[in-house]
Amino acid sequence: MALMITDECINCDVCEPECPNDAIYMGEEIYEIDPHKCTECVGHFDEPQCVQVCPVACIPKDPAHLESQETLWQKFERLAAAKAAVAEGKPPEAAQA
Ligand code: SF4
Ligand code: SF4
Repeated sequence: MALMITDECINCDVCEPECPNDAIYMGEEIYEIDPHKCTECVGHFDEPQCVQVCPVACIPKDPAHLESQETLWQKFERLAAAKAAVAEGKPPEAAQA
């Protein structure tokens, strides 16, 4: 499943640059995680990098986005293909073809 940031977030800014999927962004009041981009760091690292650096431990798993390890891998591969397509100057959708 994807992870989520709770309202205990103190906006310390350290997690956002650590995310390999650019899934973390500043929301209206606190940082948020895009569940479509978060792979729990599967495909990049053994442990979720945001959880490793968060000083207040406010990044639990998101029960609204239950995903198996296999689904997380598929998400990683989809994101990697879209990134490669953009790097070649194609639209991200080109990766679906
Ligand atoms: S678990 Fe990994 S992919 Fe998900 S938000 Fe944290 S750093 Fe990004
Ligand atoms: S590391 Fe934790 S406290 Fe800092 S911005 Fe990210 S979620 Fe918020």
